[in-house]
Amino acid sequence: MNSEIDTLLPQVRQPSRYGGNELHVVKKEWDSVALRMVLAFPDLYELGMSHQGLQILYHIVNARENLVAERVYTPDRDLEELLRAHHLPLFSLESQRPVADFDILGITLPYELCYTNILTILELAGLPFRSADRTAAHPLVIGGGPCAFHPEPVADFFDAILLGDGEEAVLEICEAVRAAKESGEGRQAVLERLSRIEGVYVPSFFEPRYDDGGKFLGMRTLSGNGLVRRRILADLEGASIEQPPLVPLTRIVHDRLGLEIARGCTRGCRFCQAGMIYRPVRERTP
Ligand code: SF4
Repeated sequence: MNSEIDTLLPQVRQPSRYGGNELHVVKKEWDSVALRMVLAFPDLYELGMSHQGLQILYHIVNARENLVAERVYTPDRDLEELLRAHHLPLFSLESQRPVADFDILGITLPYELCYTNILTILELAGLPFRSADRTAAHPLVIGGGPCAFHPEPVADFFDAILLGDGEEAVLEICEAVRAAKESGEGRQAVLERLSRIEGVYVPSFFEPRYDDGGKFLGMRTLSGNGLVRRRILADLEGASIEQPPLVPLTRIVHDRLGLEIARGCTRGCRFCQAGMIYRPVRERTP
């Protein structure tokens, strides 16, 4: 597949978006790890590379010798059209492997306007849109990020969704999937493992209820204990600030070094999503 991609990239604008050759990029031998994850940001490279959360998870997973995290962003229209015309699947940046070859496809939910890009990623990857239509042959599709706090509009597309901070949970999710893979467990057993991780919402274990006008009434529990608590990283000290940042070879939207010195906001404006979902305020020692 690599040679086919190499022939396509000179035909698109800014092929450096898709090369996976940034400074501090992590590349591992495909067969040297027990579990492979591809982290997707459902928007263009220039926006996705400006997102701190994906880079934090990227380095946390790659710090584990037996795990690998690669990246994928929504391709621009020119590459999307070429992939469709040549019947090529969406590929990860680092190894240029098809997204469908990974064990986990982790999709950030940063804002609602990119929801259609989630479907573009799934379609280009050759994955059925709905969780109910996917099988053990497909990667687990797991969401997270700010919009995970109101997940129902996209819940049917995800096998699981993480509510809250991902630093600790991402490793627990990887370990659960790795253990299930090693013991040959089926998809339902994997989902049950995931549902026991604090912060993980498995949509197929719940049934949303609406009134005749479409107003949300609540959830009916189909499986599990029916309770999902937001995952909170108690202390930012020691989190992945020391990791070397990925430095792109093209200009991105936030073309600067981002350092997370605090999470949350002391002001608590009621209209502000960030002020609410990142509570409590946590700061690093200067
Ligand atoms: S709008 Fe949000 S981030 Fe800004 S001060 Fe208010 S709570 Fe903080």
